[in-house]
Amino acid sequence: MKVCLFLLIAALCVLSFCPAVQQTLSAPAPTVQPVADELEDSDAFFQRATTRTAQKKNYAREVSALLARMTLEEKVGQMTQLEIGMITKGEGDNIQIDAEKLEKAVVKYGSGSILNVKDQALTIAKWHEIIGAIQTASQRTRLKIPVIYGIDSIHGASYIQGSTLFPQEIGMAATWNPVLMEKGAQVAAAETRAAGIPWTFSPVLDLGRQPLWPRFWETFGEDPYLAKVMGAAFVRGVEGDDVSSSKSVATSLKHYVGYSFPLTGRDRTPAWIPENYMREYFLPPFAAAVKAGARTIMVNSAEVNGVPGHVNYHLLTEVLRNELGFDGFVVSDWQDIKKLVTEWRVAADEKEATRQSVMAGIDMSMVPQDYSFSDLLLELVKENKVPMSRIDEAVSRILLVKYQLGLFDHPMPDASLKANFATAGSRAIALEAARESLTLLKNEGSVLPLTTGRKILVTGPTADSLISLNNGWTYVWQGNNIALYPKDRPTVLGAIRAKAGDKVTYVPGVAFDKEIDIEAAVKAAASADVVVVCIGESSYTETPGNITDLTLSEPQLKLAERIQATGKPVVLVLVEGRPRVINRIVDGAKGILLAYNPSNEGGSAIADVLFGDYNPNGKLPYSYPRTPNGLITYDHKLFETENTSYGNTAFSPQFEFGTGLSYTTFGYSNLQVSPKSAGMNGEVKVSVSVTNKGQRAGKETVIVYVRDMVATLSPPGKRVRRFAKIALEPGQSRTLTFTLRPEDLSYIGMNNKPVLEAGEFEVLVGGLSEKFSIK
Ligand code: BGC
Repeated sequence: MKVCLFLLIAALCVLSFCPAVQQTLSAPAPTVQPVADELEDSDAFFQRATTRTAQKKNYAREVSALLARMTLEEKVGQMTQLEIGMITKGEGDNIQIDAEKLEKAVVKYGSGSILNVKDQALTIAKWHEIIGAIQTASQRTRLKIPVIYGIDSIHGASYIQGSTLFPQEIGMAATWNPVLMEKGAQVAAAETRAAGIPWTFSPVLDLGRQPLWPRFWETFGEDPYLAKVMGAAFVRGVEGDDVSSSKSVATSLKHYVGYSFPLTGRDRTPAWIPENYMREYFLPPFAAAVKAGARTIMVNSAEVNGVPGHVNYHLLTEVLRNELGFDGFVVSDWQDIKKLVTEWRVAADEKEATRQSVMAGIDMSMVPQDYSFSDLLLELVKENKVPMSRIDEAVSRILLVKYQLGLFDHPMPDASLKANFATAGSRAIALEAARESLTLLKNEGSVLPLTTGRKILVTGPTADSLISLNNGWTYVWQGNNIALYPKDRPTVLGAIRAKAGDKVTYVPGVAFDKEIDIEAAVKAAASADVVVVCIGESSYTETPGNITDLTLSEPQLKLAERIQATGKPVVLVLVEGRPRVINRIVDGAKGILLAYNPSNEGGSAIADVLFGDYNPNGKLPYSYPRTPNGLITYDHKLFETENTSYGNTAFSPQFEFGTGLSYTTFGYSNLQVSPKSAGMNGEVKVSVSVTNKGQRAGKETVIVYVRDMVATLSPPGKRVRRFAKIALEPGQSRTLTFTLRPEDLSYIGMNNKPVLEAGEFEVLVGGLSEKFSIK
């Protein structure tokens, strides 16, 4: 009821304050209605998400009875994962089951898992045909153990044609809305299960603290607390209360752990992370998602401190199993056991690599293009180089997940689940997520929202590109096959045209890396009232996305500069997976809207914000660098900011973490912290009032930071400890109360354990601050 009231009031506000709305009214009626969500306290959400309401079913009796009947060959088969090409022939849409290959993979070798697509997304019908054939084959084996099929459902069921796609994780982080994250994850799970697939290789829980890294946009950004809350929401959404249900699938947390922080910024290159920092920053999102019930984990393809992820016994067994209590199974990443020989050189041959990784804790190998793993592991066990107990442990974990998913009872795809696929309700959630992700970074002289009747020039390489709006893991690995994209979703240009019709002129100006017709764009600017310059990146992921410089390409910078030189007001729309350096064109821009990769509803969402039909509320989940080398996160040490002899002006981001403007203004007041002095086991209450001081309804994310004034290890200047996302009508105030517990004030000490030290702390919220002490 409250939600409906808010929507009604928001709609009335839009009608009375936004001149552009007249145009919208004459545009085609939207096919979907927005959904509103609120989050009053990230901690309440997190505690709920990490305390499973439903018990994970314990199939110990079934698992051990089945295990007792299995031969060594069958056990090793369960630990083997092959790619789809190992059972099919043909390419693209023409892919067909190859009966001989299928027989070899599933019946002869008894392979426990198959993954992925052959080049591209398939229709649900095709998936049913393929999964049906695989499971029919599995039912011909002696013990009829079902195969577990796994797929990268990264931002929705991205390998199923026609699925509902959401903003990539970096955009979801910018929503600061785990309620929305959970809902989106529910849709992704239901659509994946509808295709007969019970397992997704998501979420990515690597922290985005190295923006060069080509998978930066697959992360929830730089802050461990935000990543932990969003990651738990993702897991809860995908796995639900009962993972065997027809709307849930198993998650795979990836890529455990430290993958995202390569020194060079390039994919699959070494990271150096001391254990205390590993535990302070990179581990918490994984630990939280394990608590939220995640069934599987995928391993870091690279190395940390010289130890490749796939042979890291300490992380895979001592930490993951013994400390975090993870009871699902661990799957390798693509060909990564072979790469221990060819890339990392920690084993002289594949047999030794197989031994090392299985002994370190790998339960299933994504081999995935031959039978080497099965053959070699069989030899290793027969030669007593891998004990049967280790095999039994791995196979039990795999069987447990298969039981929990209900695969033994229902291995076949269920045709009736198509009803759960690509519904109008799901699309509404995707649109809402796209809108909530959009982050307004600059709005000088209220250039936005655009007013009615103005002549608009749209230019730049991301203006007319669904591919940029989506990025990688969209229908194909690199997201770059336009033939597979929906025809009925507008690009930014299309959505602007839908609102402003013949007032819009479009000149591409430049491609991503080359000039096309800058002169034509400059000429067109002369007769425009405002210019929307859409810049950023095309699609990429993993190694193909490596770059050596964060600076935006020269042709794009030149286009923006030349347009700015005309004196016409310029709005930059950034469609990019990682923050490309744009310092040359920031001052000359009146407005800057960061869209990340908002997916197929993103064009409409961007136009909604540009024209004021939606009031933006996304906030930056990372520090946007001003210079290619200015890569410092918001939680840097204080001396890196202040005018000290060491730090000087080292920290000077283009846009600070947490930045995000609105078409209204929010005032913060009355920050109170109590008690002012608490004991080591005490709790501290923080309350603050927030008021909408403008004339439009809007949403605000309230971020609570805590600063440790003095600590044995030099403390970060501040850390996010809580947040809330609230909706406020014009003039409305709300008072929020948060509770900080001792673990929120501790840090990981040199002994790699949490330490809470007595002393002074400071709470910082919306420009206010208050101190308290722990005695
Ligand atoms: C990626 C994983 C992905 C796997 C299967 C690997 O190259 O690193 O993130 O899940 O391929 O597609």
